[in-house]
Amino acid sequence: NQQEKQMLYQALELLTKFYHYVLCNSKYGQKGKEYLIRRGFSEETIEKFQIGYAVDSWEMATRFLQKRGLPLPIIEKAGIISKRNFDNKFFDRFRNRIIFPIWDRRGKTVAFGGRILTNEKPKYINTPESNIFHKGNILYGYHLARSAIKQKNQAVLLEGYVDVIKAHQAGVTNAVASMGTSLTEEQAGLLTRNAETIIICYDSDKAGIEASFRAAEMLKDSGRTIKIAKMPENLDPDDYISKLGGERFRNDVIGASQTLMAFKMDYLRTGRNLYDEGDQMRYIEDVLHEIAGLTKAVERDHYLRQLADEFSISLDALKQQQFQIYRQTK
Ligand code: ATP
Ligand code: MN
Ligand code: MN
Ligand code: MN
Repeated sequence: NQQEKQMLYQALELLTKFYHYVLCNSKYGQKGKEYLIRRGFSEETIEKFQIGYAVDSWEMATRFLQKRGLPLPIIEKAGIISKRNFDNKFFDRFRNRIIFPIWDRRGKTVAFGGRILTNEKPKYINTPESNIFHKGNILYGYHLARSAIKQKNQAVLLEGYVDVIKAHQAGVTNAVASMGTSLTEEQAGLLTRNAETIIICYDSDKAGIEASFRAAEMLKDSGRTIKIAKMPENLDPDDYISKLGGERFRNDVIGASQTLMAFKMDYLRTGRNLYDEGDQMRYIEDVLHEIAGLTKAVERDHYLRQLADEFSISLDALKQQQFQIYRQTK
């Protein structure tokens, strides 16, 4: 109900400020602050994203909220505490972690993501879904990116919180993230609402590349222009920015993003030697498959010509072979 929701919002709002205060203004947050500075977060960024710190305590957050008059059931429903199995006692969910508030599209805190400072697992924990937190509806950073998305008529989709934060710090202020899971219809709708172009820039590992294809498929239906940004192998935007700087991220990654088909063609080339006849034939066949899947005749024609030019094959031969592929897939 409405009153309960208000209390959930209130609890999360208070706790956002508390975690942020601990990080910035107390000796308990020192460790977290040092971690963030080591990873290249600026003071301004820590402020903008209201990053916080949860100390290594079983009950600090719970006690803080109870002192502010919030009842335990609300604190539980907000996902801030969990129940211990063996004695049914409640304890703080986030301990010894960097806290990233997660907002809804109006900018109200609805959840937290917490990152451990070491290599321990799990690396991240999130608040569970609640009355006010539906993971699939949320694009991380959307309320901070919305005006830049409108102004640039372009949105940039990344994988992680840290990637979004670093991208903003590097001047890519139209960046948001899909919360780790695969893109949902709701997220796709929000992403394409105010932008003609969507640039996907997921981590450049196998999982990330495959997720980009899935996200691109999903976004295509919107009729918007979908592009994919490529990074050197096994980097994510945060790694890239730390290594090579924000300017190169803007120009050589985001600025150099490719159409989906160009990206796929690049991908199909990897591990193949196109001077080898067999590899070349397999490559051409794979690309023809992709071209056959395009819905616009003009686009199909464009890529067929490109392929014909590159390998000095007659357009007729390519069309014939594609016709066979068509019949196989129908
Ligand atoms: P970092 O740079 O701090 O290591 P990352 O964003 O690069 O973080 P990834 O492993 O690439 O981390 O994961 C991308 C996103 O997936 C994270 O931002 C987080 O939202 C989600 N995620 C990763 N690991 C977990 C986990 N163990 N549980 C829940 N969500 C996770
Ligand atoms: Mn502050
Ligand atoms: Mn990553
Ligand atoms: Mn990372």
